[in-house]
Amino acid sequence: MAAHPEKKSEERKRKSTQNDARTSQAQWGRAWEVDWFSLASILFLLMFAPFIVYYFIMSCDQYQCSLTDPVVDLLMGNKHLSDIWNKTPPLTYRAAGIYTLWVAFQVVLYAFIPDFCHKFLPGYVGGVQEGAVTPAGVVNKYEINGLQAWIITHLLWFANAYYFHWFSPTIIFDNWIPLLWCANILGYVVSTFAMIKGYLFPTNAKDCKFTGNFFYDYMMGIEFNPRIGKWFDFKLFFNGRPGIVAWTLINLSYAAKQQELYGQVTNSMILVNVLQGIYVLDYFWNEAWYLKTIDICHDHFGWYLGWGDCVWLPYTYTLQGLYLVYHPVQLCTANAMGILILGLIGYYIFRTTNHQKDLFRRTNGNCKIWGKKPEYIECSYMSVDGTKFYSKLMTSGFWGWARHFNYTGDLMGSLAYCLACGFEHILPYFYIIYMMILLTHRCLRDEHRCLSKYGKDWKRYTAAVPYRLLPGVF
Ligand code: NDP
Repeated sequence: MAAHPEKKSEERKRKSTQNDARTSQAQWGRAWEVDWFSLASILFLLMFAPFIVYYFIMSCDQYQCSLTDPVVDLLMGNKHLSDIWNKTPPLTYRAAGIYTLWVAFQVVLYAFIPDFCHKFLPGYVGGVQEGAVTPAGVVNKYEINGLQAWIITHLLWFANAYYFHWFSPTIIFDNWIPLLWCANILGYVVSTFAMIKGYLFPTNAKDCKFTGNFFYDYMMGIEFNPRIGKWFDFKLFFNGRPGIVAWTLINLSYAAKQQELYGQVTNSMILVNVLQGIYVLDYFWNEAWYLKTIDICHDHFGWYLGWGDCVWLPYTYTLQGLYLVYHPVQLCTANAMGILILGLIGYYIFRTTNHQKDLFRRTNGNCKIWGKKPEYIECSYMSVDGTKFYSKLMTSGFWGWARHFNYTGDLMGSLAYCLACGFEHILPYFYIIYMMILLTHRCLRDEHRCLSKYGKDWKRYTAAVPYRLLPGVF
C-alpha cells in the first residue's frame, strides 16, 4: 500500500554522456509550440473557467442548485444579470480574514514543521524525499509532511467543533461565496507571480519553457519547479494544501450545515464524506509517490495548477456535498450499499494500479505482481544535456489490461460520489463529466509526451497494451 521513493540509481543509470540524439530527445516535457486548438481552448478557459465556478455556486445559492433556472429566468426576462449579481454576497473582511489565516496556517505547517509521522507510522513515507528526474536532469528534494498537516488541521477542526467552539463548523458553507473571491485573488496572484518569476528569477533556468505565446505560457506555466528558498515548492504546496486539505473540511462543514438545517445528517452526505475522505487520505498517505505523477513531474506551474488548485479543486470537487445541503437525499439501504461498493471497488482499482506501477518502478522490476514476475518493455530516453537514461514500461497486472487503468478506477469512484446525490439535478454529475474529460485529455497528453520521450519503445508498448482505459472499448 505504501509508496516509497524510486531509488536514484534506477533512473539514473548513466550509460553515455555525449550523443547525437540531443535534438529529438530535448523535446520531451511540456509543449514547445502551440497549435490553434490548444490556444483556443486556453483562451476559453482563461476567460470562462472563473465564471463556470461562479455559476455553479450561484445557482445553488439562488436557484437551489438548478443549472437551467438561471438561464430560463434570464431568457424569459424575469431577471437581469444585474439582479443575480446584486444578490451575490460580496467579498467581506471576515472572509478575507478567514482565508488569510487558513493559507498562512497551511504555509506554517508546510514550511516550518518537519514531518514526524514517518517516525511512528509503519509503512508511511514522509520527511525528505526525492522527485523524478526533470528534463534538465535535476532531481529535487521535497519535505513530505502533508499527512501531518492534514491530521493537525482536522484535529483542530474537531477540537473546535466539540470543545473550544471558537467558530461554527458551518463557517465554510456560511462564507462560501465571499471565500470564492479570496480564492480567486490568490489563484491569480500566484499564477501571475509564477509567470514573472519564470522570466526574471527562475529557480532553474534550464527547466523553463517558453512557447512565445503569452497566454499558453501563462496558463501552462514557464517554470517547472518554482521555489522560494530551498524548500517552499509551489507545486507541492498548492497541489496539496490549501486545496486538498480543505476538501475534507469543506465536506465536514456541509455535513454540519445539514445538521443545523434539518436536525440530521443524511446517509448520502455521510457516503460523500467517507468516500472522498478515503481519496484525500490516500493522497496524503502517498504524497511521496505523487512526486512521480504527472502534476508534479511533468506539468509546469502556471494558472492551470495555481488557479486550479486554489479555486477549481475546492469549489468543483465538493459540489456533491454542497448540493446535499440544499437537497438532503436519504438513500434506501440497498442503494447506499451499492454506491459504497462501487466507490470502494473504484478506489481499490485506483490504488492497486498505482501501487503496482510504484512497486515495479521502485524495485526496477524485481517484484511480484499478482504472484508473478512482472512483464515489461525496456526503454530509453535522454535529458536535455544528452545523458541517456533507461526505464521500463510494465505490461502485466492492471497495466497489462489497459494503459491507464488507474484512471478507470478513479472514474468509478467519482461516479459513486455523484450517484449518492440521486437523479433530480445535473449539478452533482458535473464532477464525473469533468473527470471523464480531464482524464481522457490527460491520457492523450501523457501518451503524446511518452511518445516523444521514448520514441519507438513507446510504440512497442502501445502494441503490447492496445487499450487506454477500458479493454476492448477505448
Ligand atoms: P500515472 O500515474 O498513470 O502516470 C503516468 C506516467 O507513468 C507516464 O507518464 C509514465 O511516466 C509512467 N508510465 C506509463 N505507463 C507505464 C507502465 N506501463 N509502466 C510503468 N510506468 C508507466 O498518471 P497520473 O500522474 O496522471 O495520475 C496519478 C493518479 O492520480 C491516477 O490514479 C489518477 O487517476 C489520479 N489523478 C487524479 C486527479 C484528480 O483531479 N482527482 C487528477 C490527476 C490524476 P515515465 O515518464 O516515468 O515513464
